[in-house]
Amino acid sequence: MSYTDDEETMGIVYLVGSGPGDPGLLTLKAAQKIAEADVIVYDYLAGHNFVHKAKPDAELIYVGKSGKQHTVEQIDINQILVTKAREGKIVVRLKGGDPYVFGRGGEEAEELAVAGIPFEVVPGITSAIAAPAYAGIPVTHRDHASSVTFVTGHEDPSKEESAIDWSVLGRNTGTLVFLMGVKNIEFISRALISNGMAPSTPTALVRWGTTPSQITAKSDLANIAGECRRRGMSAPAVLIVGSVVSLRDTLSWYENKPLFGKRIVVTRSREQSRKMAEKISANGGEPILFPTIEIAAPSNYGPLDDAISRVSEFDWILFTSENGVERFFKRFFNLGKDIRELAGPRFGAIGPVTANAISSRGIKVDMLAKEFVAEGLLEVFEGEDLTGRRFLIPRAEKARDVLPDGLEKKGALVEVTPVYQTLRPSRTGVETIEKSFLDKSIDAVTFTSSSTVNHFMKMFEGADIKKLLEGTLIASIGPITSNTLTRHGLRASIEAREYTIDGLIKALMNYYGNAKKPL
Ligand code: SAH
Repeated sequence: MSYTDDEETMGIVYLVGSGPGDPGLLTLKAAQKIAEADVIVYDYLAGHNFVHKAKPDAELIYVGKSGKQHTVEQIDINQILVTKAREGKIVVRLKGGDPYVFGRGGEEAEELAVAGIPFEVVPGITSAIAAPAYAGIPVTHRDHASSVTFVTGHEDPSKEESAIDWSVLGRNTGTLVFLMGVKNIEFISRALISNGMAPSTPTALVRWGTTPSQITAKSDLANIAGECRRRGMSAPAVLIVGSVVSLRDTLSWYENKPLFGKRIVVTRSREQSRKMAEKISANGGEPILFPTIEIAAPSNYGPLDDAISRVSEFDWILFTSENGVERFFKRFFNLGKDIRELAGPRFGAIGPVTANAISSRGIKVDMLAKEFVAEGLLEVFEGEDLTGRRFLIPRAEKARDVLPDGLEKKGALVEVTPVYQTLRPSRTGVETIEKSFLDKSIDAVTFTSSSTVNHFMKMFEGADIKKLLEGTLIASIGPITSNTLTRHGLRASIEAREYTIDGLIKALMNYYGNAKKPL
């Protein structure tokens, strides 16, 4: 790397690999560079997955191609990189997989070197090893293959002078991995066989490896092209040739996950959906975020601030949601309060997640609801005389009155203070999701509270909701949410046994896990 005289104003280009698709396979360093970038120049396979990690004001330049779409010429890509770096920008050139494995990363780096632009390479996990791994195929194995060769399958088969020595590949005893080879699959298998490779050599094609859309076709070398044609396999896919492919029968794991390939809509607020989305992904599914709720400050902080100013007078503080806890403590500390003022009151929570949110602030939860609904919290006070006891319930602006009413009936003095309100987001994104519902590409929709149901219905007002959700699994977190569904003329197909996100995920896994087992 050479620095020019304008070192101070000169930017830098990072050639970054985004990994093969699974967002979890983005390296830490790649994520760091994406977050730092002023400009991100990215490809089709680099996935729109990652651009949301960019700074809000980062300039995003899409130069990828997909199928017949217009492509930015390589020469223009080089020009963009050079120009932006010369403007003093931090430029990330984001490529799928690894930037130096068939990504033209080498060529771009050469251009930068010639232009005197500083650059660094952030290697990524290449699809050439990751897609086989997710299909249950280790590219090397002591009993099967002591070498692995990455080959471009893109080469024009009619080319007279091949850059690939097929006579060497045909005699190869290790694993061959072809990238960009789907179109030429027939040619590749014939070329290998005519150069000495056994037609019975185990072969697999893995499409969209490491993503919930992964599909694997397996056959022998002689029949793989036909098998792929029959199954309508298309790019992007890697072709793996060699005896390691036979290990898939025992080592397949990703495709066996209970939610594998299932597209599941999450209707919670964006802030609250991260954990749920992670759990869906971890079980092989694809979370589709469609927030029907936006969490916002309460319309008036007065009652909360007033309660906080007298907080030590309360006997109990009850929380009914994680959000309530988060927002309460944020306000509490923003008002300059000290945790020691909470020494007096006891703390109650409606569910384990709410309880965790409290205990993560160093406060032990004195009481947890038996069943994770308001009634459950009431139940634990059963038989107790609460006359004159002071309760504070910081919660959403609009919520059911079961809990405060029940406590008051037992003689308690209850103050309900709004700490947040739930709003309905604007209708952006509704059309896209409506299309997916209609073309039946969504497997399940989850509802995690009555408000998610109510808002969902409002967002689709005017649409034929029965038709929209026909054939889609409706998953509810518990009986109250299911009742709300019923009120709207819908029926929960499955309901969580434990009324938590984990419980809901378990219900989905049970459902799909059992559905997958042969009868
Ligand atoms: N630099 C990339 C490869 C770029 S060439 C890497 O290291 O992965 C593009 C080819 O990569 C595609 O034609 C396909 O063969 C392969 N590819 C990329 N992502 C893939 C994926 N998720 N599953 C299967 N093949 C993939």
